[in-house]
Amino acid sequence: MIIPTVPTTDELLDKGFRRARKAASLKRSSKIPGQKKAKVIESTRVQTACQVIRDRLKMIIQRIPDIESLPEFYQDYIDVTVGVDELKKSLGALNWAVGILNQLESDYMARIKRSKPSDASHLRREAFGRISSVIKRIEGDLDFLDFAKNKLRNMPTVDLDAFTVVIAGFPNVGKSTLLRTLTGAEPEVADYPFTTKGIQIGHLERKWKRIQVIDTPGLLDRPVEDMNNIELQAMVALENIADVIMFIFDASETCGYTLESQYSLYLGIRSVFDIPVVTVFNKMDLAENVKYLEEYINMVEDPLKVSAFEGRGVSKIIKKLEGLYEKETREAHDNV
Ligand code: GDP
Repeated sequence: MIIPTVPTTDELLDKGFRRARKAASLKRSSKIPGQKKAKVIESTRVQTACQVIRDRLKMIIQRIPDIESLPEFYQDYIDVTVGVDELKKSLGALNWAVGILNQLESDYMARIKRSKPSDASHLRREAFGRISSVIKRIEGDLDFLDFAKNKLRNMPTVDLDAFTVVIAGFPNVGKSTLLRTLTGAEPEVADYPFTTKGIQIGHLERKWKRIQVIDTPGLLDRPVEDMNNIELQAMVALENIADVIMFIFDASETCGYTLESQYSLYLGIRSVFDIPVVTVFNKMDLAENVKYLEEYINMVEDPLKVSAFEGRGVSKIIKKLEGLYEKETREAHDNV
C-alpha cells in the first residue's frame, strides 16, 4: 500500500505559513486603498495558511485506501504490521484537524473583516497560534502515519485468485531451493511481518494453471507453541490465501534439526492450518545414514521423497499440486 509522504508538524506549518506570506506579499503590491490593505493582507495569510495545510492533510487521507474495502489478507497484513485501529485513529485525527482548520479559517476571516485595520495583524497572529496548536495536537498521528508508510511500503503483491501453496519447515531444510526449482524464475521478495528475509513469491505456470508458491522464512519455521498472539495472527493471515501447505522435512537432518523435532513442527503446523498438507522429504540424496528415516516417512500421509538440489522428485510435487488444484476447482464448481 502506498501512503503518500507524511510531513512533520514543523514542515507542515512552515509550508503553510511560508505560502501564506507569499500570497500576502502579492496583495501588498496591489492597488487596494491603504486602510483596507492591512485587513486584506492579514486575511489572505490566514486563508492561505489554512488552505495549504488542510489540502496537504486531505491529500494524505484521500490517498490511503479504505482499509475495510481491502481483501482480508491485506487487512490482516496491515493489522499485524502497524495495527488497523491505530491507522484508523490517526486518519480520524487528521480529519478532525481538517474540520478545525475549516472553522478557524471562516472564524478569523470574519473577525478580521469586522476588525479595525490596526487589529488585523494581531488577529492573524492569534489565528496562526491556533493553527499551530491544532497541528501540534496531531503530531503523534503524523509520526505514526510516517511509520506506517515505511512499514507498508513493500507490502507483498500476492495474487489473491491464484491457487496458492505456502511452504513450511525448519530453516535450511531446502524451502527456498525447492521454491526456485518449482517455479524456475527468481522469486519476488516482499516484506512480511516476523519473517527474517521477507516472503518469497514464485509462480508455477502449467498450461492454463497458475500456481502461486510462497515461502515465509522466519515464520513457518519454528514451533507454533513459541509464537505470541501477533505472530500467530501473522501466520493465520497466510491461511486466508493458502489453499495448500507444503511441509518440508530435511530427511538428512543436515539442517541441524532432528526428524523428531521436525515432526513435532509438522504436527504444530497441521493443527493451525485447516487445509491440505503436502508433505515432502527433501535432501534424499544425503539421507542414507539416517536410521529412523523410514519410521518418520511412514508416519505421514502420502510422503513425497525428493532432492530439490538435484531436481529429483520435483515432478511428483507438481503432479500432486496440480491434482489438488483440480480437486479444488471441481469442488468450487460443485458449490455454484
Ligand atoms: P531454507 O532455509 O529452508 O530455505 O533452505 P535452503 O533452500 O536455503 O537450503 C539450505 C541448504 O541446503 C542450501 O545449502 C541448499 O543448497 C541445501 N539443499 C537444499 N535442498 C537440498 C537437497 O535436496 N540436497 C542437498 N544435498 N542439499 C540441499
